[in-house]
Amino acid sequence: MRHSEFHRSHRIGWLRAAVLGANDGIVSTASLVIGVASANASHEAILLTGVAGLVSGAMSMAAGEYVSVSSQADTEAADIARETEELATQPEHELEELTGIYISRGLTADLAKKVAMQLTAHNALAAHARDELGIIEAMNARPVQAALASASTFALGALLPLLVVLLNPTSLVMCVALMSLVFLAFLGGLAAKAGGAGILKGLLRVTFWGALAMLATAGVGSLFGVVAT
Ligand SMILES: [Zn+2]
Repeated sequence: MRHSEFHRSHRIGWLRAAVLGANDGIVSTASLVIGVASANASHEAILLTGVAGLVSGAMSMAAGEYVSVSSQADTEAADIARETEELATQPEHELEELTGIYISRGLTADLAKKVAMQLTAHNALAAHARDELGIIEAMNARPVQAALASASTFALGALLPLLVVLLNPTSLVMCVALMSLVFLAFLGGLAAKAGGAGILKGLLRVTFWGALAMLATAGVGSLFGVVAT
């Protein structure tokens, strides 16, 4: 019978990388732009800084995500290889191990043994990977997918404050800060809703840190602005 309940865990991997990337894009690019603008740089210099921030940030997100997810993939592959070896060399011990896992999950010894034997007969490696190593097919590490998701969402996030810079409003720092906080609040709320968590909490959490980052760079930028003149 088809599993009808809807579980959000299916979207964890993609959602987490996407929201983190977009948040990062908005916060780091808006902070960069605000910092340079606060130092009284020209509009061209501010725009250039924003574009450079977008490209470098997207590349570093992609590289970071690719490296971290690849090493996770390496670890999973090494665990699976060792498990395959153990299943081939000591099947009785592995069967006992699996039985023990089911007993610890609440099955009677008798039933646990039966379940372990049937699952071993059906697909021993899959049973051990899932129940012993916690490697589930759906959560398999996909480095390229994760890197692309992170880089593209970072770039999308970074584009938002950049669009404000392109419009060149008179009080640029204020406009970039306010618009970025609006974007962050929307993203934070969206991510919280999609993840089944409290919208307000999610919203406040991301706008607080975003505001803090922009305040810090505005402070540093104005300091440089004063020193430079
Ligand atoms: Zn095992």
